[in-house]
Amino acid sequence: MNRSDVIVVGAGLVGLAAARRLADGGARVLVVESTRVGAEASSAGAGMLAPQAEAQPDSPLLPLALRARDHHLELTPVLEGETGMSLGLSRRGSFEVAFTEEDEAALRSRLAWQQASGLPIESLSAEEIREAEPNLSPAVRFGLYLAGDRRIDNALLVRALAASAVAKGAAILAGRPVSGLAIADGRLVGVRAGNETLHAPVVVNAMGAWAGLLAGDPWPPAVEPVRGQLISFDVAPPPLRHVIASPRGYLVPRADGRLLAGSTSERAGFDKSVTAAGMRYVLDVALEIAPVLADQRIGDAWAGLRPGTPDGLPFLGPGALPGLFHACGLFRNGILLGPLVGEMVADLVLGRRPSVDLGAFSPSRFAPART
Ligand SMILES: Cc1cc2nc3c(=O)[nH]c(=O)nc-3n(C[C@H](O)[C@H](O)[C@H](O)COP(=O)(O)OP(=O)(O)OC[C@H]3O[C@@H](n4cnc5c(N)ncnc54)[C@H](O)[C@@H]3O)c2cc1C
Repeated sequence: MNRSDVIVVGAGLVGLAAARRLADGGARVLVVESTRVGAEASSAGAGMLAPQAEAQPDSPLLPLALRARDHHLELTPVLEGETGMSLGLSRRGSFEVAFTEEDEAALRSRLAWQQASGLPIESLSAEEIREAEPNLSPAVRFGLYLAGDRRIDNALLVRALAASAVAKGAAILAGRPVSGLAIADGRLVGVRAGNETLHAPVVVNAMGAWAGLLAGDPWPPAVEPVRGQLISFDVAPPPLRHVIASPRGYLVPRADGRLLAGSTSERAGFDKSVTAAGMRYVLDVALEIAPVLADQRIGDAWAGLRPGTPDGLPFLGPGALPGLFHACGLFRNGILLGPLVGEMVADLVLGRRPSVDLGAFSPSRFAPART
């Protein structure tokens, strides 16, 4: 274990996808995780695979996100075949709904540019939406249908990726917080974990919201935690079949019978508390979309930390030291993007050309200019 080719720090979706690919490529790979596999955002998230939902025209994120959605469709059956698990990948699209004039204007503007870009998106009248989802609020006035959107059980996806990575030869060391990079004679030689140095000439930072905290990195990525709070309802039979999003939040039905409602977007440092104000916000979102939920039992509530970045784009690629790579900053789209970008950063490590140009996501874009 102390003789690896690559150390991946962080066992979220990104780190596990990278480790799986590296092991498949013949590298001796060690994943070092401070607590347990999938302990953070990758299990906390809502599991929407929604490349068009938050896309901005001309953003480099859109082609990456569309490719990432297709990648899930390819990867899921492979992982299900390898592990015997069912990952709850839905084949249904999603609805975006408007309640106010302002909501409708925002959706119509999205409809216009996405149609002009040839993306699959349709507008629906209130009657058409309620025909598809009779439990939606009668206050819905307009909506969009995104046929290509999907959802997956992200907690199960994490477990399947971990099992597959291990089956391919990756080792996972859980319960071992990495404190920083190990550098000898000016060269990266591994990471420090407690009193120990774990040796490898290559380190991949897949630390999610904590990615900026790797001591010894001359240009730590500008990643900031953005808290999101979620509620799950235990509802049988499920009142909705599709993911339904409003400009304020969303409802996500799960194959296991739960209905998730989310989410807040708060800058509260590394505090993962579930708060009264957060719950009020999420319940308002849920009841605005589907008032029928007012009588339903709340099953659980939790919070996770999204890895936010100053420009909303991830940090993917080489870092400031030879042998250091970043695979972090996936913000609101890491369930969607994680499996693909983990593999693409692994490809860079293996000296292969990634399937999408990662230039726009270079970690050096916020680095101080060299003098
Ligand atoms: C409420 C909420 C809803 C979301 N919904 C969606 C959604 O529907 N669709 C979507 O695409 N995305 C969604 N996201 C975003 C998505 O969850 C994240 O972008 C994604 O999970 C990030 O993955 P990651 O592997 O980078 O980070 P993480 O899953 O956070 O993994 C990072 C890992 O690094 C470990 N680590 C940190 N520091 C150290 C250290 N010093 N040493 C060792 N290990 C360390 C952590 O313990 C953790 O396990 C949501 C996020 C939240 C919070």
